[in-house]
Amino acid sequence: MITDNFQRSVSYMRFSVTDRCNLACVYCARKDISYLPHEDILRYEELMKLIGLARELKVSKVRLTGGEPFARKGFVDFVREVHAAYGDLDLRITTNGTLLAGKAKALFQAGVKRLNISLDTLDAAKFERITGRDLFWTVRKAVDECLDAGIGVKINTVALKGVNDDELPGLLELARKNPLDLRFIEFMPIGHSGGWSPERIWTADQILDAARNLADLEPVQEPTEARGPARMFRIRGGAGRIGLISPLSNHFCATCNRLRITASGGLRTCLFSDREYRLRPALRHPKLGIEKVRRIIELASKNKPMGFMLLREKIGSGAVCHTNMSSIGG
Ligand code: SAM
Repeated sequence: MITDNFQRSVSYMRFSVTDRCNLACVYCARKDISYLPHEDILRYEELMKLIGLARELKVSKVRLTGGEPFARKGFVDFVREVHAAYGDLDLRITTNGTLLAGKAKALFQAGVKRLNISLDTLDAAKFERITGRDLFWTVRKAVDECLDAGIGVKINTVALKGVNDDELPGLLELARKNPLDLRFIEFMPIGHSGGWSPERIWTADQILDAARNLADLEPVQEPTEARGPARMFRIRGGAGRIGLISPLSNHFCATCNRLRITASGGLRTCLFSDREYRLRPALRHPKLGIEKVRRIIELASKNKPMGFMLLREKIGSGAVCHTNMSSIGG
């Protein structure tokens, strides 16, 4: 098991399978972004090797993300292969949901039991303003298709003051009517972070106070192993739950258990750090390979920072990390 200098251990790895996305969310990636050449992107067999290494290092949860993971050719087959090879792995996917139509049953059969779908608004026109594409109903239908197929759905909503803070009643209603988790994530100053400013932060506590006026919320105590960064609340009398993820106002660095691998094979030990350790050259080197990668991961992880310290140092001076979230994978 990988342990760092703050006695935190890594049990969760996120792999970005592509830096390409079919949306250009205003807070995430610039429209003029240039993509990596194909040869710089980890091949599926390389990702498989890294996931195998993660298993050896006692990582129990893996998330596949992007860019938009479903935009990569062969992604569903890859998911099936990962599930077949590592059936006991808690395998998750984060997607914008725009390319899911008609795939939910196949995904369930491929072993996907849980999916995170990013959706910041229930207003179709606003969806287009945020993402640059008129695809709200495609995503909304995908949520229903996944639920119908038996896939557990978490909706991730970036909380944006002045953009979606007027939609709390509708978003709560979505979680009240449907057996899903709707989680608000504070807007982070990452990458170009279009329009990030302190005034844009709709904090977790502000959301909770407002939500308590609209619904009867009961805090959920999750078992330690299932606990994530979200504070979860059941909506009494409803089917679903809401959650609050507060990387800015109430950080969870002390229990951070994750590492991120970018689409080009860069290891990132903290979302708020610009430090990236290149795994690809070692992975592709005929004499180094996976053993060298293991050593890089172990050594780099030792120095995994406490992100809130970096945030405190840098916040207010623009982005705290200069790579776009679409390249890191969220
Ligand atoms: N394309 C996939 C999707 O949309 O879910 C996966 C990649 S996306 C970068 C992962 C998550 O990061 C999304 O939920 C997105 O809303 C979130 N995200 C991007 N930029 C963010 C920011 N500045 N602050 C908070 N969350 C952000």
